[in-house]
Amino acid sequence: MNTYISIIIPAYYEQDNIEPIYRKITEHLVPYLDRYTYEIIFIDDGSKDQTWSRIAQIADQDARVRGIKFSRNFGHQMALTAGYDVACGDAIISMDADLQDPPELLIPMICAWQQGAHMVYARRAQRKDGFLKKITAGWYYYLLSKVSDVHIPRHVGDFRLIDRKVLTTLAQCREKARYLRGMVAWTGFTSTYIEFERPNRHAGVTGYTWKKMIKLAGDGLTSFSTFPLRLIGYCGVLILGITSVMSGYFLYRCMVYGDQVVFMNSLGLIILGVLGAQSVALWILGLYVGRIYQESQKRPLYIVEKVCNEKQ
Ligand code: UDP
Ligand code: MG
Repeated sequence: MNTYISIIIPAYYEQDNIEPIYRKITEHLVPYLDRYTYEIIFIDDGSKDQTWSRIAQIADQDARVRGIKFSRNFGHQMALTAGYDVACGDAIISMDADLQDPPELLIPMICAWQQGAHMVYARRAQRKDGFLKKITAGWYYYLLSKVSDVHIPRHVGDFRLIDRKVLTTLAQCREKARYLRGMVAWTGFTSTYIEFERPNRHAGVTGYTWKKMIKLAGDGLTSFSTFPLRLIGYCGVLILGITSVMSGYFLYRCMVYGDQVVFMNSLGLIILGVLGAQSVALWILGLYVGRIYQESQKRPLYIVEKVCNEKQ
C-alpha cells in the first residue's frame, strides 16, 4: 500500500497564492504517485478576500484537496491545529501558503522521514526578513534556548514533517496558548533537519502583525519556562540588597552631615524604582495568571464554518 502524506496549509488573505502553491505541490508530488498518496488541506483562517472561493474551486476539481474555513481569524497556530486534527496521513507536513516554504523540499523531507526520523524540520539557512525582525527574532530564540525546559530548535519555523506517532501525542495537548514548534519538540521523538534558503513571499503581505508575533513569543516563553517567575524572585532580592545599602549610606550622610535634601531625593528615587520593578513583576505574574484563566474557560480552540471534501 502507498504511503499516505497529508500537507496542511494555513491561509489568511492568500487569494493570489492558493492556485500557485497547489500547482507547485502537485508538480512535485504527481511524479511519485506510485509511491505516495497525498492530500492537501487548506485552512482558511477567516480571510475576507477570495481565499476560500479559490480553495473551494480547486477542491471541486481535485478530490485530493480539502478545505476548512474558520468563522473568523483564530491565528496561524489554531489553523495548524485544525489541519492536524483532520489529517489522515502517515506523515503530516505543515507549510505556509505564500511559497516561502518551497515545495521542492517535500520529497527530501519525506525521504528523511522514511530513513527513520520522526520529525523533519526545514531549517532556514539565512533570514531574509527586515533588520528589526532579524534582530528581535535572534534575541528571542537565544533567550528561549537559555530559559526553556525543552530544547526548541533555532531558525526553524512551522515548515516541518511529523510522523503520525508525534501527531497522536500532539493531539492530546489541547492548551489554548499554543506554540506548536515548541510542543512538537517537547514530544522528544527523533528529529533531523533539512536546510533551505527562504525566498520572499510570492504575493500579498504578511498576516503576522507585530501584535501576533509578540503574542506568539509570549506563548512560547510561558509554555516552556517558568524562568520569568523565578526572575521576579532574583530581581527582588537584588533590589532589596541595593536599596538597603543605598538607604543605609544616605541615612548615614543625613545623620553625620545633616544632608537631608540628598536623603529625601534618594529615598524618592528608591521608592520609584521599587514601584517600577513591582509593576514589571505583576505584569510577568499576570501573563501566567492569564494563561490559567484562559485554560479554565472550556471554549473550543477554533470554530469551523465550512468544509469541502470532508473525509468521513
Ligand atoms: N496565517 C494564518 N493566520 C494568521 C496569520 C497568518 O493562517 O492570522 C498564515 C499565512 O497565510 C501563511 C502562514 O500563516 O500561510 C505564515 O504567515 P506569514 O507568511 O504572514 O508569516 P511570515 O512568513 O511573514 O512570518
Ligand atoms: Mg510568509
